Amino acid sequence: MKILAIGAHPDDIEIFMFGFLAICKNRGDKIYAIVATDGALGGKKTTDLIAKRAKESKEGLKHLCEPTLLGFPDSKLGSNENHYNEIDKKINSIKPDLIVTHYKEDYHSDHRALNKIVKKSTSHYIPILYCDTMMGINFLPDYYIDISKVFKKKINAISKHNSQGVNRFTNLVKIMNSFRAAQCNAPIGEFAEAYKFSRSFPFSDVRNYLPKSPKIRPFYIKNHNGFL
Ligand SMILES: [Zn+2]
Repeated sequence: MKILAIGAHPDDIEIFMFGFLAICKNRGDKIYAIVATDGALGGKKTTDLIAKRAKESKEGLKHLCEPTLLGFPDSKLGSNENHYNEIDKKINSIKPDLIVTHYKEDYHSDHRALNKIVKKSTSHYIPILYCDTMMGINFLPDYYIDISKVFKKKINAISKHNSQGVNRFTNLVKIMNSFRAAQCNAPIGEFAEAYKFSRSFPFSDVRNYLPKSPKIRPFYIKNHNGFL
């Protein structure tokens, strides 16, 4: 199966989608990645920030694939017709079975713009899975994916983005992915990513494409290590 991840900024795929993609890669799927903007406004400003972020993106994703870096200006996504045309062209050349991208109500305008671009491009031909928002705001998940086994790999991938400050985003995903696991009553030390899917014909159910959700742990059991 071909899975295409499309992130707005150079570290978004690692932060919001990496666990899901790493599991899919391990099970034999072919992973593709597109990074839409150059990330010129993220982190400490240096003259070589754009080149640095491009390198970090390739390093962060190297175990999954070689990403396509479109280099559109940070915080201006969707302001030029060319942004849609280039992303649409890329999607059509890959022809993925599933796309993973940002949710329509995420915090950053580039994330929201990308959501619109991808939805317009795919129409009813490719199902889109939406990744969690920043700190889960406005996001009620449909699916939880158990990423405990690849969590170290995910932290390692995010750590490649030195330009964004040491531990800044690794701390963030520890909170987000622990919280999503805790919602499934998983023990401390387990991690989950949350996803959402908008059903529409002919993609009324995509569970068959997805890796495993966290184990079901009923509330009334003895000696469990969960939340309560
Ligand atoms: Zn972003």
